[in-house]
Amino acid sequence: MDQITIVTGGSRGIGAATALRLAGDGHRVAVGYQHNADAATAVVTSIEAAGGTAVAVQVDTTAEDDVVRLFATAAGALGPVTGLVNNAGTTSRIGAFADLDAADLRRVVDVNIVGAFLCAREAARVLPRGGAVVNVSSGAATLGSPGEYIHYAATKAALDTLTIGLSKELGPAGIRVNGVAPGIIRTDIHAVSGDPDRADRIGTATPLGRPGNPSEVAEAIAWLLSSAASYVTGTTLRVAGGR
Ligand code: NAP
Repeated sequence: MDQITIVTGGSRGIGAATALRLAGDGHRVAVGYQHNADAATAVVTSIEAAGGTAVAVQVDTTAEDDVVRLFATAAGALGPVTGLVNNAGTTSRIGAFADLDAADLRRVVDVNIVGAFLCAREAARVLPRGGAVVNVSSGAATLGSPGEYIHYAATKAALDTLTIGLSKELGPAGIRVNGVAPGIIRTDIHAVSGDPDRADRIGTATPLGRPGNPSEVAEAIAWLLSSAASYVTGTTLRVAGGR
């Protein structure tokens, strides 16, 4: 089966590394982006330069029409979609839960839960037997992120529950649903939290003594999407350096 995979948030960070990694495995890749068209185009150009096939698609994953259009555009440009990397996500400024701003709470829930669930729903509608979904969760889901962003951690716990439920619902149709839970990874997301150096500062306190790189998460995602993981479903693989 040709592998045609949508990567949301494919313009930067973990998503960009994953799009490049999957293209190396022979996937045709739809690179979803929200604001950074130049970054998404650069990912597509890199894939094409290496002999692969990719297309950039603008999408706000919180908008239902956008998500439906993303899947239709990917299928039209690349062929029937067989995989989803449900990666687009965000956070808000680090702080105590008592100081949580309601608008930040709604935005993080909207992107990390509503957006991710809409993408998973669309995948459930179109993926064929042999298809697979990987939800990008976070180690925060089990750590809780006290003093930083408990609301963010809770959205990722919701995603882990989606992984369990949807894997059971789609298993009989031959579709696998898994997750990865990255730890502290060097990407731009830490700037969104108001602490751009967080990865290098906190990463050294992990058992492996350093933050992770996006490519190390991409490896796990690529494996979960591959036939090598053909009996793996309903689980979330921690890629967190022991944290
Ligand atoms: P990042 O560097 O900040 O990139 C975020 C990506 O998501 C960008 O491509 C962005 O698109 C896209 N995006 C954000 N909101 C979107 C929306 N509403 N619709 C469509 N796309 C949207 O983040 P990252 O660190 O690579 O994180 C990727 C995933 O890993 C997230 O789910 C995050 O929660 C999770 N994670 C990250 C870490 C870490 O330490 N980095 C740890 C655990 C889990 P544009 O660039 O086009 O705006």
